[in-house]
Amino acid sequence: AAAGSTVLDVRSARKTFGGLVAVNDVSFSVNAGEILGLIGPNGAGKSTMFNLVSGVLPLTSGEVHFAGERIDGKTSRALARAGMARTFQHVRLLPAMSVIENVAIGAHLRGHRGWMAGVMRANRIEEASIFAEAQAQLDRVGLGADALREAGSLALGQQRLLEIARALAGDPVVLLLDEPAAGLRHQEKLALAALLRDLRSQGVSILLVEHDMEFVMGLVDRLVVMDFGTRIVHGLPEAVRNNPAVIEAYLGG
Ligand code: ADP
Ligand code: MG
Repeated sequence: AAAGSTVLDVRSARKTFGGLVAVNDVSFSVNAGEILGLIGPNGAGKSTMFNLVSGVLPLTSGEVHFAGERIDGKTSRALARAGMARTFQHVRLLPAMSVIENVAIGAHLRGHRGWMAGVMRANRIEEASIFAEAQAQLDRVGLGADALREAGSLALGQQRLLEIARALAGDPVVLLLDEPAAGLRHQEKLALAALLRDLRSQGVSILLVEHDMEFVMGLVDRLVVMDFGTRIVHGLPEAVRNNPAVIEAYLGG
C-alpha cells in the first residue's frame, strides 16, 4: 500500500456479550507503514477489538475494511491469506519443537505455502524453501542463531520474538499484536521496540494493543485510548499522555 494510505479501517465497531457492551461503536484506522497503538486499562475492550479485527469474533454491528475491501464476516484464515498477521496475548508455541519448526509450521497453518503438503509429497525442494524462509524470518527478529533450540527453552522475550517471526512468514501487510510487552523484562522490551521500529521502516503496518503506556509512548505514531468499551481519546502520543481523561482511566478513577 502507498505510504499514508489507509490499510485497516474500523468503522463503528460494536460487540456485546449478553448485556455487556465490550466494544461500543469504536472507529479508528491504521495507515500504511505506521504503528497505531490501542491502549487502555484492563477490561477496556482491547482484546475484543483485536478479535473483531482479526476475524476471531463476529461484530454485533459496524464494519472492518482491510486494503480497501470489507472484511468483517471473513474467517481469520482468509484474512491471514489476504495479508493480515497476528500474535496472541498468551504465547502459543509448540514448546517441544525447534524454533525454526515453529515458524515453518505457522506458515503452513495460515495456508501460506503448504508446509505439510510439502512434507507429504516428500518434496525436498519445497520443504527446503520453506525452511529457508523461516530462517530468514528468524534472522529478521534476531533469533537466527537459535533456530535449532527447543522453543520451550527460550526466555519469554525471545518467545515473543519467535511469535512475531512466525507471523511474518508470508510477508503480511499488517501485523496485529496483542500485549506483546506483557511480562517482559526491561531489556526484552527494548529489543521488542527496536524490532517493531525496524518492521515499520520495512513498510509493515502495525496495530499494537498494549496495556503498558510507557512501552507505547516512544514507539507508536498515533494512539487510540479505550475505556469501558469506548474510544475516549485519540491522537499523537504526547497529547494523549497528558490528557486528563487518560490519566483518570489509568489511575482507575
Ligand atoms: P482488555 O483486553 O482491554 O483487557 P477485553 O476485551 O478482554 O478487555 O474485555 C472487555 C470486556 O468484555 C470485559 O468486561 C470482559 O470481561 C468482557 N468479555 C471479553 N470477552 C468476553 C466473552 N467472551 N464473554 C463475555 N464477556 C467477555
Ligand atoms: Mg486484553
